[in-house]
Amino acid sequence: MRVLISGGGIAGLTAAYWLHHHGHEPVVVERAPRGQFGGYGIDFFGTGHDIAARMGLIDRLAAHQLPTEDIRYVDARGRLRSRLERRLLEKVIGGPYLALMHARLEEALADAVRGRVEIRHEQRIAAVGQRPDGIDVVFADGAADSFDLLVGADGVHSATRELVFGPESRFARRLGYTMACYPVPDSYGLGPRRIHYSEPGRQVVLYPTDTPGELIALFLHRTADQTAPPRAERRAALRDAFDGMGWITPELLAAAPEDIFVDGLTQIRMPRWHRGRVALIGDACAAMTLTSAQGASMAMAGGYLLAEALHRHDARTAAFRACEARLRPAVTLRQDHARSFARFLVPATRAGLAVQGAVSRIGMRDAFAGLLRRGYGDTTSILGGA
Ligand SMILES: Cc1cc2nc3c(=O)[nH]c(=O)nc-3n(C[C@H](O)[C@H](O)[C@H](O)COP(=O)(O)OP(=O)(O)OC[C@H]3O[C@@H](n4cnc5c(N)ncnc54)[C@H](O)[C@@H]3O)c2cc1C
Repeated sequence: MRVLISGGGIAGLTAAYWLHHHGHEPVVVERAPRGQFGGYGIDFFGTGHDIAARMGLIDRLAAHQLPTEDIRYVDARGRLRSRLERRLLEKVIGGPYLALMHARLEEALADAVRGRVEIRHEQRIAAVGQRPDGIDVVFADGAADSFDLLVGADGVHSATRELVFGPESRFARRLGYTMACYPVPDSYGLGPRRIHYSEPGRQVVLYPTDTPGELIALFLHRTADQTAPPRAERRAALRDAFDGMGWITPELLAAAPEDIFVDGLTQIRMPRWHRGRVALIGDACAAMTLTSAQGASMAMAGGYLLAEALHRHDARTAAFRACEARLRPAVTLRQDHARSFARFLVPATRAGLAVQGAVSRIGMRDAFAGLLRRGYGDTTSILGGA
């Protein structure tokens, strides 16, 4: 089958790899130029790790791990409040764990399909028409083509979803937080650690990337309106939102570049992930937000399981249903968890912060690995013996 995939990110590239593996002809359209990938770190374990292993990517990914030996919570003067060692984190997750730049995973997936799958960069779908025996697509540059199936893997603000299922507002659940992040030079002597500093309703996180001398500064704050300001206003908006914040926040804000990645924490919840010859995977149908720490994993699961279901079932609707039936319970569980964990991660009040501090001080020990595991939600691979 000729399958058009909109979006060459984690979900789209994984789907392309496995569709090709099962003998299909995937074509990917990606709106970004070639070689441009997202710049933030991810925790990577469970299902995603399992699929990456089946693709032979683990050695390559492991070679690019972020140099984080522990996660620290500090006070306004940078003094240690609590600490989660990587060793304990691995015990809590109960399986292999990698800390990676999102871009490294995308690069590894892009290389895995290179020469096997056509990827059209700086291209996107403008219109879709479904026939009983195929799907007609018009691209943004006016070109037209026909395919057997269309897979929407174009992220939380998916254009495929908008074109085929309806506006984002119908499916979006705003968690009430906005995040921003950007790289800064390491002039703070951070060392091999990720540091969190919180005040009521806002949190700053700083961690090293896999490029020596570079850090990512990540800002998370509670907001009634999650709409990202226009690019030219983002730096000023961020400085306003974090005005007066302690620790090294003023220096981090002063180092902000003009172009800042800003987005609201939005989950996508849809009654059905497919319509006719179109199926959605990854954040497009199941965004969980960064507080799940499993969005990339579930995006890979969507690509892998969809290709597997199309291989196992002759009828496409049966395949779409089988994939959704397998994945939806795992996604819902992680979305519910991510929603409640966001409230714990960024408490609204001083009292909430005190609770967070006490739980962290007591909980981040071997003896409390079980409690911590509950905090992380379900970290196991959903593939089992598949
Ligand atoms: C700051 C941050 C931290 C995170 N931390 C973690 C973590 O620790 N662990 C984890 O597992 N997940 C984490 N996530 C979530 C994870 O990154 C996402 O869930 C995952 O990237 C989803 O993959 P995807 O392929 O569905 O979407 P995306 O990665 O968003 O990829 C979508 C692709 O589609 C392209 N695209 C968009 N629109 C169009 C269009 N109209 N036409 C063509 N192409 C288009 C985009 O350019 C992109 O390449 C984090 C996310 C953020 C923002």
